[in-house]
Parts: sequence; C-alpha cells; structure tokens
Amino acid sequence: MTDLYIGGTWIKPAEGGQRSIVSPADGSLVTTVAEACATDTVAAIRAARQAFDHGSWPATPARVRGALLHRVADILERDRDAFARAESGDTGKRLVESEYDIDDCAACLRYFAGVAGTDAGRVVDTGRDDAISRIVYEPVGVCGLITPWNYPLLQATWKVAPALAAGNTFVLKPSELTPSTAILLMRALEEAGLPAGVANLVLGAGASAGAPLAEHPDVDLVSFTGGVETGRRIMATASATVKRVALELGGKNPNVVFADADFETAVDFALTAVFLHSGQVCSAGARLLVEDSLHDAFVDEVVRRAELIRLGGPFDPEAHTGPLISAAHLAKVEEYVAAGLAEGAVLRCGGHRPEGDGLDGGFFYRPTVLDECKQGMRVVREESFGPVLTVERFSGEDEAVRLANDTEYGLAGAVWTQDAGKAQRVAGRLRHGTVWINDYHPYVPQAEWGGFKQSGNGRELGPTGLDEYREIKHVWQNTRPRPQRWFPAN
Ligand code: NAD
Repeated sequence: MTDLYIGGTWIKPAEGGQRSIVSPADGSLVTTVAEACATDTVAAIRAARQAFDHGSWPATPARVRGALLHRVADILERDRDAFARAESGDTGKRLVESEYDIDDCAACLRYFAGVAGTDAGRVVDTGRDDAISRIVYEPVGVCGLITPWNYPLLQATWKVAPALAAGNTFVLKPSELTPSTAILLMRALEEAGLPAGVANLVLGAGASAGAPLAEHPDVDLVSFTGGVETGRRIMATASATVKRVALELGGKNPNVVFADADFETAVDFALTAVFLHSGQVCSAGARLLVEDSLHDAFVDEVVRRAELIRLGGPFDPEAHTGPLISAAHLAKVEEYVAAGLAEGAVLRCGGHRPEGDGLDGGFFYRPTVLDECKQGMRVVREESFGPVLTVERFSGEDEAVRLANDTEYGLAGAVWTQDAGKAQRVAGRLRHGTVWINDYHPYVPQAEWGGFKQSGNGRELGPTGLDEYREIKHVWQNTRPRPQRWFPAN
C-alpha cells in the first residue's frame, strides 16, 4: 500500500495502516488505500519545509510555474474519464457531474497558471529622490491543505492551484472518505515535472493524519474546507503558532423567490439549488423563502417535481441524483427531518429512504420538502447537508432580507424577481459571500468564493484566492546612503 506521496516518493504509511473505501451507492468495496498516522504527516511537513527552504520552486519564475499548471490541466483533460470515474466511485455522484467537476478543475488550474505572472507588485512613491520603495509578493511557505468529501478534486484544486502558482510547497490531506482523485492529482503533478517535495499527500482520518497540519510550527498556512465545528478546532489549534488560517465552512443558504419571479424557471432552479448532489453542496439553497401570494402554487409545483427525481448509482444513466456519502451522514439527515417534524414542519414529500428501488445497499434518501417552517427550528438553522428543503413564507422585501440574513452562516444565496431594482436592492442587503440573481450555483474561477460570518474567513478563486497564498513584502532602498546624524557623531 504505497499511496502516501512524500518528498517525491510513493511510500508506505509508518504504521502500515489501511482503509477500505466503500461505494455510497451500494456498499461495495471501491478500493483500499494507505492510512497515514501523525508520524507520516510530520514527515510530509518536513519534506515540504525542505523543498521550500532549499528547493527551486519558490524562486522559479511565475510564468514557468504557470506552464507547469497548464501541463497538469492538459493531463486532467487527457485522463478526464479516469478522474471522473474515480470521483464518482468514491462519492456516488453521477458520472456527468464528476465530468463537469474535472472540467472545472482544469479551468481553475489554467486560471491560476495565467494570473500568477501578471502582477509582480508595485512601486511606491516615497516622496524622496534618493529612495526606491517596492511592494513584492512572495510565497507564504509550507501550506497545509485540508479538504472535504463532497467535491474532492475540485476543493483540492481550488487550493493546490493558487498555492503552486504563488510558489508554495504543500501537504494535502483529503477527506478519508474520498481519497482516489487526490492520488491521481499527485501523479499528474509528478508527470508534469513538479520538483520533489513541493507537493505531498497524506491520507487518513482528520484527528490523526490531519491534526499536525494545524499544530506543527513548520506549517505557515492552513487552508481548510469542511464543517464549522472542525474549522473552529483548526483555528484554535493554529493560534498556538499564529499561522495563517483560511476557512471555507458550511452554509444555510436562502433562496428568495418573489411573487413576480418567472414561475417555471424559479421552480426549476429551486430544485437544482437544493437537490443537486443530493444536497451535499456547501452552497445548497436549502432554505426556500417564498413570497406569501406565490407560496401555495410554488410549493405544489416544487413538490410535484421533487417526486419525479430518480435516485440511482453514479453509473446509472437514468438516475438524476445519487446517494449520501455514508451511513452516518444518512442518519444525521434523518435526524434533522425528524427534528423538523417534531417542531411543527409539514412534510410535503420525501422524508424517507427509497423503497423497492433496489437501492437498499446504498445510503439513499428521497428528496424532502418541509413546509411551514419557522426560523427557530433546528432543520432551518443547522446545515443538514442532505436533500432537505425547508420552506418559509415572507411578505415584502424587508421580511425577505430579515429571514435570509437570520443565520449564523453567510456563504451564498439567491434572489428571484423580474424587477431589476428590487433584485439589486435585495442582493445588496444579503450578508452572504455570493448572491445569484435569477440563477443558482454558477461560479467561475475568476470570481472570489467564500463566506461571511461563520461560513469562513478566507476567499478562494479570483485574485484574492491567489493573495491567500502570498506574503506581502516591502523592500526599501536608499539610493544615496549617507550619515543621518540623528545622534551626535562625537
Ligand atoms: P469535516 O469538517 O468533517 O472534514 C473536512 C476535512 O477535515 C476532512 O479531510 C477531515 O478528515 C478533516 N479533519 C477533521 N478533523 C480534523 C482535525 N482535527 N484536524 C485536521 N483535519 C481534520 O467536513 P466534511 O464532512 O468532510 O465536509 C462537509 C462540510 O464541508 C460541510 O459543512 C460543507 O458545507 C463544507 N464545505 C464547504 C465548502 C466551501 O466552499 N465553503 C465547500 C465544500 C464543503
């Protein structure tokens, strides 16, 4: 079992650990991979430190680093099918969704390949004729990159691409549930010619293989995407060594539909917003807020269409969406629905596992709509991260904004209306990092992604996504040095 990539070599874990990866669609064995312990992660950190302090990568010209990222994108495009199949095998998501993810990864690599060399800093006006002042960007150093299971390769690429573009070295720790495409990514980096030690991969559980990335003094930055509880722990741990911390956490995202929205389109997107990837999307539109006068007709149509959704495995061409990631996650989603019903929500559809569809071996859950929800309910406040839509009514702009913002999260949200002025007013008042108007879910690598409030404190993608991985240095030069005589010479 040689799945750990440390210092440019594929190695066995120190304690010989192994982990079985099972398909969420039917419980079958997908693969067996190495399971690292803290010792392996510390070895990976040392390799990354060595490559940063003594290797060529940090000083390699940005354009050359960019060329390497383009080569990695070429490999992803060449091996798209293998990457997509590996991603779907681990996550259970439909093959076509994985194919889109791989395309998005290639686009992200190409974006950061391009921007890295376009901005070498700036010259500052010193107000003097004998001094030059420059602001320059340098890599932060060794980066610990920790990623979740819902978009395994995409979340890794959002970190790996800017980290490399900026000249850093890193240790990647993907989710223990979905390691396969991280292994393929390391192979692609190796094939593209990345120097040994710049990229390192450890696989395994968060508490053992992941924790050293937040603890170790040789890690300069930890960038984490995952749940808010883990994020809090990582931030607290990282404070001991005052490392840079970038957190991309969960969301409880409002999808606000005004009565004047285009009915058919808004219904259609309300479904995609929440049921895509069975709700396992950080920006899922899990809170549907509908204007009073539209409520009944709108919810009836959402329910009618939710009942048409076919569940199935990742390679079933007839399936519209797949399973939840694990038995434990399925149990958590069931618990949220039960809590909502106990607190007075009205079950309009779903609320159970599929019956008689031959899906018993997988972790499937029917798309669920809970109507007449109230802000105080747990299912409204907390992230179920499953195919569960809560519906609330509002009357007018002010109440829509108040409900949409009444959450400790602030990742994303949408507003649906044909009134352009209202759309802009509401978008401006939403306390969320991304706001879509008459759309849901699109993103591009050129635009920043990240959360307000407890959805996180960093930004990925866009120019700011590169800045996360750069130190800013001020270089001052006195061009005519002579004694200053501030203090007496004699
Ligand atoms: P998680 O917090 O359970 O795990 C995320 C990663 O952290 C995994 O690799 C895990 O092994 C690791 N980890 C766990 N404990 C650790 C520790 N003590 N030290 C170091 N690493 C540790 O999250 P998850 O269940 O894998 O992912 C789902 C969550 O991710 C959801 O909350 C979702 O909203 C969020 N997410 C956010 C974004 C975003 O862009 N904001 C994107 C995708 C997912």
